[in-house]
Amino acid sequence: MKYIPTIGLEIHCELSTRSKIFCDCPVSFGGEPNTRCCPVCTGMPGTLPVLNKKAVEYIVKAGLALNCEINEFSKLDRKNYFYPDLPKAYQISQFDLPICKNGGLTINTPEGEKFIRIERIHLEEDAGKLLHDSFDRYSLADYNRCGVPLIEIVTKPDLSSSEEAREFVEKVRLMLLYSGVSDCRMEEGSMRADVNVSIRPVGTDELGTRTEMKNINSIRGIARSIDAEIQRQTELLEEGIRITQETRRWDDNKGESKTMRSKEDAHDYRYFPEPDVVPISFKTEDIEALRQSLPELPNKRFEKYTALFGLSEADTNLLLSSVSLSNFFETTAQECANPKAAANFIIVEVLRRLNDTGLSAEDIPFGGNVLGRLIKMVENEEITAANAKKVLAEMFETVKEPEAIVAEKGYKIINDTGEVEATVKEILANNEKAVAEYLEGKEKTFGFLMGQCSRALAGRGNPKIVQDVLRSQLNKLKEGK
Ligand SMILES: [Zn+2]
Repeated sequence: MKYIPTIGLEIHCELSTRSKIFCDCPVSFGGEPNTRCCPVCTGMPGTLPVLNKKAVEYIVKAGLALNCEINEFSKLDRKNYFYPDLPKAYQISQFDLPICKNGGLTINTPEGEKFIRIERIHLEEDAGKLLHDSFDRYSLADYNRCGVPLIEIVTKPDLSSSEEAREFVEKVRLMLLYSGVSDCRMEEGSMRADVNVSIRPVGTDELGTRTEMKNINSIRGIARSIDAEIQRQTELLEEGIRITQETRRWDDNKGESKTMRSKEDAHDYRYFPEPDVVPISFKTEDIEALRQSLPELPNKRFEKYTALFGLSEADTNLLLSSVSLSNFFETTAQECANPKAAANFIIVEVLRRLNDTGLSAEDIPFGGNVLGRLIKMVENEEITAANAKKVLAEMFETVKEPEAIVAEKGYKIINDTGEVEATVKEILANNEKAVAEYLEGKEKTFGFLMGQCSRALAGRGNPKIVQDVLRSQLNKLKEGK
């Protein structure tokens, strides 16, 4: 490669507060256009914004999860621009004193671990949505999204490939999901990213001219837009053409971007302190209380699952990919002796059932502690693993407790050697041919006979006892021969 890419991201996430940032209109996706707005969020003259306390708590939690410092004093600013999706003609955002600064996350790259710095995270309000496509000669504005609280996470230009960007966004997304501050649903636009890309020739330090692509709403789109932009800039430089600083529109269907407008600088927005909202100040103990309220985050869980529980990285990542699944696993593991066995049972049996039925982990009709009791019965040799699967199937269909299903179906394991011996004798008597083959040295036949015994015991025979009894009976026959 002749050029080194430099990539920075601005990630916007909607906070999952119940109401908007400056009024009590509900925050929820969809709805008939302009049904979730009021005079405040549609910018009527004379209305006054009141800052949502929950939104402030959520941005602090996000900042702590992403290893940021929290500014003890912070304020909101007006960012002025005229566009029909913004009825006030300014957006209340933050300029020079964002709530969070100097954070970052470690990602894994083929060259090893790399720390990606986060310059700042600030709070702002979302704008409305313009609908252009369905109408012939005019556009319509939907202000339902106006005033939804957003955080904007701004990285330093530390990323150098689409792969690194993908890994970083995925990690940020998990951190925010576990912190409970955003649902990060990219397909609904509650998480989207602006991508800044520049390239410079190998051996030089001076950064090239950067371009920006806005509002990309899938991780795949982010990665593809970066690759396409590196390619486009490389071709221009190869032809001796200078790159223009501009904002480009990424078209994910076509896989290409087009010039949108020349890039604006901060002074174009005429930022000034928002006079209608009081500044925000924190006490150290407020910040500490929010830090304490964060649940165990995925990076900590990753260490626990791999180092303490002995799970593979692949299994760990699978369990961590959903907050509900990870929480379900944690409560299951607390109930039984072997967390690794619990993880395997969940990954193989529970996930298969979810896949088959198109459900997700949130829909599991029983708690992890209940599944833990089922796994414990296998650990304590009260039921066989084979019957545990049947119990699980029934737990998904009925709301019965595993103990009740075991009692009802008579799945209790047979640990009584005498009872097993009687069955094994019967099986040997009824399978003379197989027995003869075994005695002639056909070891394979043992598996067949084992299967016959298990079936006769209705899957309730303790496999170890059945195996021992069968082996010793066959040995007796061998010696008797
Ligand atoms: Zn409102």
